[in-house]
Amino acid sequence: MVPFRQYLLKIHSRCNLACDYCYMYEAADQSWRDRPRRMAVGTARRTARRIAEHADRCGLDEVGVILHGGEPLLVGAGHLDELLGELASSAPRVRFSLQTNGLRLLTEPALWEVLHRYRVGVGVSLDGAAADHDRHRRFRSGAGSWARTAEAVRLLGSAEHRELFAGLLCVVDLAADPVATYEALLEFAPPRVDLLLPHGTWEAQPPGLRRAVPTAPPPAGAATGAAAGEPAPYARWLIAAFDRWYGAPRRETGVRLFEELAVLLLGGRAASEAVGLAPVDLVVVEADGSIEQADSLKAAYDGAPGTGLDVWRHDFADAAAHPAFRARQRGLAGLGPVCAACPLARVCGGGLYAHRYGDGHFGWPSVYCADLARLIRHIGGRLREDVARLGGAPVTGAAG
Ligand code: SF4
Repeated sequence: MVPFRQYLLKIHSRCNLACDYCYMYEAADQSWRDRPRRMAVGTARRTARRIAEHADRCGLDEVGVILHGGEPLLVGAGHLDELLGELASSAPRVRFSLQTNGLRLLTEPALWEVLHRYRVGVGVSLDGAAADHDRHRRFRSGAGSWARTAEAVRLLGSAEHRELFAGLLCVVDLAADPVATYEALLEFAPPRVDLLLPHGTWEAQPPGLRRAVPTAPPPAGAATGAAAGEPAPYARWLIAAFDRWYGAPRRETGVRLFEELAVLLLGGRAASEAVGLAPVDLVVVEADGSIEQADSLKAAYDGAPGTGLDVWRHDFADAAAHPAFRARQRGLAGLGPVCAACPLARVCGGGLYAHRYGDGHFGWPSVYCADLARLIRHIGGRLREDVARLGGAPVTGAAG
């Protein structure tokens, strides 16, 4: 059994923003409509017990708990304190983190004391410059949220709270300039940046893509890493950001996607599901205690993340044995035929599972195949030049 090391808890299932790309409310899956607004303390207690059992059985002395929503801070300081108290007292050693839009940090100062007490790492969603952020991340009134979010991030980065600052999460937008986006994020001195590709599938393709499903891996040697002439706009965007980041005279921040691809190209192992072949070790617990797969699957179809399991009747070993999780723990053998034959598979891993969906299954390459191939080859080329210059070990998986 591959143990779960990361538990993503949906502690509040509503949001105080209405972002147009939100997979929670705007994607195919609409299960949030039937869920309680917030996770009850009893559900957190039960979840903590299940986590402790699973960790004990698998010999884990530390796990990660990610508080998520909707907007998780809408639970309020008092309820957050109770939830964290349950999780901290029953589970093994827990590293807490939280992904937020930041707005409640400005209006409910009592939250800070709770976040510090439980050492909760705080990541904030911020899509670069004001005009780019406000194109998608708006209040229900239609007003942009950048100014308030930026205020919250500045507070998080202040000397008083800096130790909690985990990073910024930015969704890639082809309409935004990649270098300007990266530099706008840098202004907040984040310890880490996550650049996320917008969720999409072969049936509901991401903005700017209209592709046919590839029937063969990207041809070796193709400069674009895609079929001749096929545009790869997300690769173009990410390569510009990579070159700006990698070419800086000193390390300005970490960019998770680039660092993970570099680690994989150098023969290591990635820690996220987005790239590489590491087995999935993250499980989601919804506000009502349902056990689900990663949220990104909401992009595929209504009910896609569901397992039929819950913390009241099942333990996490049941989830680990569920075919939906097993399918994502089989490495190369879990990929469809095109990816399995691809020379980049060990690095790319077929991309995020949700992005492979089409015709009722997940056996296709990623809808971002051409972009991933081009990005991987570009990063591989840059690393190869540097490694050769320094006389180090060969860079794998980027040949051709
Ligand atoms: S999605 Fe990745 S592994 Fe699959 S064919 Fe495309 S580049 Fe290769």
